[in-house]
Amino acid sequence: MNIILFGPPGAGKGTQADIITKSFNLYKVSTGDLLRNEIYKETDLGKKIKFTMDRGTLVSDKIINDLIAKILSDKKFYNRLIFDGYPRNLEQAKNLDLLVKKYDQKVSCALNLNTDKESIIRRILGRQICTKCGLIFNEYFKPSTDKNHTCGAKFLIKRPDDNEKTIIKRYKTYLDKTLPMLNFYKKLNLLHQIDGKAEIDQIFDKISHIIASLEA
Ligand SMILES: [Zn+2]
Repeated sequence: MNIILFGPPGAGKGTQADIITKSFNLYKVSTGDLLRNEIYKETDLGKKIKFTMDRGTLVSDKIINDLIAKILSDKKFYNRLIFDGYPRNLEQAKNLDLLVKKYDQKVSCALNLNTDKESIIRRILGRQICTKCGLIFNEYFKPSTDKNHTCGAKFLIKRPDDNEKTIIKRYKTYLDKTLPMLNFYKKLNLLHQIDGKAEIDQIFDKISHIIASLEA
């Protein structure tokens, strides 16, 4: 089965992707990793990517599509991919559709971690990291207490770029690009909406049920 995971920045998509990957023995496809890997291996494509990125330009859809084609054509990963952060726009989604068919596979489902602007803001603005032990807390959702954290509150700091304006801008950009894709997968009957405001365990539970129903 191949799965696509959608979710705005701050919705816990990365965490879910990692748990799903492990639990269902899937291979996680993140375009960032694919790009870095290609540069690292110094392939022809890697050199082209490095040239583009060094100039601060966005890597083209064509290059991304080539990288995805490479993964889909690799027998090692046949029908066990989870896409995290890809596709990024409707064009890429349509291309993925062609590619999976070409390599005799399919997209089994598209999971959308649904959440609203307010909870994203609280999730990101509330994020605290302990400079002493590295644990991450959230002053709204998972505050540091005597029970879960021995260092106490004095070592907790926030990331300076986590301000409200940046978050709202990122969220809006995400929605503009993502809503057309969600409609695309909805028409194909592949879209599952998941409450992204729930606890990590609850979200994973829901996802597990969906995946189990696909396997059955
Ligand atoms: Zn600590």
